[in-house]
Amino acid sequence: MTTLTTEHYVCPSCGNEFDEKIVVSFMHKGQDSDFYPHYLGLNPLPYYLVQCSKCSFTAYPEDYSEGQAEKFKIKADKIKKIQSLPLAKKLPENALKFFITAKIYEEVQVNPYKIGNLYLRASWCCRASENRKAEIEMQQLSIKFFKEAVEKTTISNPDNALVVSYLVGELYRRLEDRKLAREWFENVIESIIDPEQQWLLELAKKQAELNEYLLN
Ligand SMILES: [Zn+2]
Repeated sequence: MTTLTTEHYVCPSCGNEFDEKIVVSFMHKGQDSDFYPHYLGLNPLPYYLVQCSKCSFTAYPEDYSEGQAEKFKIKADKIKKIQSLPLAKKLPENALKFFITAKIYEEVQVNPYKIGNLYLRASWCCRASENRKAEIEMQQLSIKFFKEAVEKTTISNPDNALVVSYLVGELYRRLEDRKLAREWFENVIESIIDPEQQWLLELAKKQAELNEYLLN
C-alpha cells in the first residue's frame, strides 16, 4: 500500500512556506514494458514531486534542501511561462507536475538522464488518464533526453546506460517507429555481457520481436 507523510517546505523560487504530502513507500505488482509500475492502492506518482502552493514551482523534495535551493532560484515569470506553453495546457494534472519540473530542470541544466525520467513519468500519468496524444508528446521528449544522456554518457552507472538504451528502443516501438526501435534494441542485445542483466537481455529480445510483428 502507498504511505504518505507531510513535510514542511520553503519554496526556493518565491520563499513561500507550505506543507505538502510526499511518498514514503508504495507497493506494485508487475509493470508495463516501459517500467510503469502497476501500483497497488493509491497512485503515488503525484506525491513524488512537491509543488509550491503559491507560484507552482515544482521539484523533488530534495531540491528544496538548503544545499540545492540556490540552484533553483527560478523567477516566477519563468514558471508562468512554462505553464502557459501550449503543450502544458494539454496535459492531465498529474503529468503537468512532472512537465513543470522537467522544464525547470532544463532551465538549470540538470543531467539529461533525470530530465528524461521526468518526461517518462509524465507519459505514465498521461497513460493513466487515457490521453494518448499527450502521452506521445511526453514519450518523444523522454526519448530526446535519454538519447542525450546515452550519447553524452551522463549516466554514471554503465548498467543503467543499457537500461536507458532499452527504454529508448521501447519508447520508439510504442511510437511505432520500427526502424529506430530495432536499432536501439539491437544495440542493447549486442552490448549485454553481465549475467546480472540477463533479465534486460530477455526483455529486449521479447520487445524486439514484438516490434517486428507490429504487436502492441
Ligand atoms: Zn513558490
